Amino acid sequence: MTATARLLIVGPQGSGKGTQGARIAEALGIPTVSTGDVFRANIAAGTPLGEQVKAITAAGELVSDELTGQIVRDRLAQDDAAAGFLLDGYPRNVAQVRDLDGFLTELDAQLDAVIELEVPRAESMARLSLRAQQQGRTDDTDEAIAKRLSIYERETAPILDVYRERGIVDQIDGVGTLDEITDRIQAALAARGITRSAAV
Ligand code: AMP
Repeated sequence: MTATARLLIVGPQGSGKGTQGARIAEALGIPTVSTGDVFRANIAAGTPLGEQVKAITAAGELVSDELTGQIVRDRLAQDDAAAGFLLDGYPRNVAQVRDLDGFLTELDAQLDAVIELEVPRAESMARLSLRAQQQGRTDDTDEAIAKRLSIYERETAPILDVYRERGIVDQIDGVGTLDEITDRIQAALAARGITRSAAV
């Protein structure tokens, strides 16, 4: 029986990762740690960190591993993350996987499960195109979306391979209703002994 719920959710843009991550974190009573959200909040609030990362995120580039790592390290050391957390958007490359291993070792902890949300490329493309149309966005062209998905595929595969070797990856079919997908994730976590009662 796992006494903690230290989780990572991984999936391409358009996979519903943010939505499912929030549902799972709420169900387990653990905080979501989303590096993208931290950056967006700081940009909106005009903090020095926000000023530092504004141009980088606007260009769709990655913030440095060092700066992103500092944020995650500080956040994971806070009291409310002691029994568990759900990471969304970090780690994004193999160097960040190693950094995260180091932060967790400092806390005498390790990841319990990695949720891999699988959505076929065509489905992700269709969802993102629809969202772009609904939001009237002209920058989300099919080419731009395809490029972001390619970057995800290139960068994320090695991360999942590392975690797969550790036997902690749960592949979840990301096609279905929101409830169906949440149920699938919860069933996979429960099989590892990760439930609300175990986490709190
Ligand atoms: P996201 O919402 O996860 O797509 O993140 C939005 C933006 O924040 C990204 O395009 C990056 O510029 C930055 N960002 C988020 N997470 C990371 C990370 N782990 N490493 C580097 N940059 C990141």
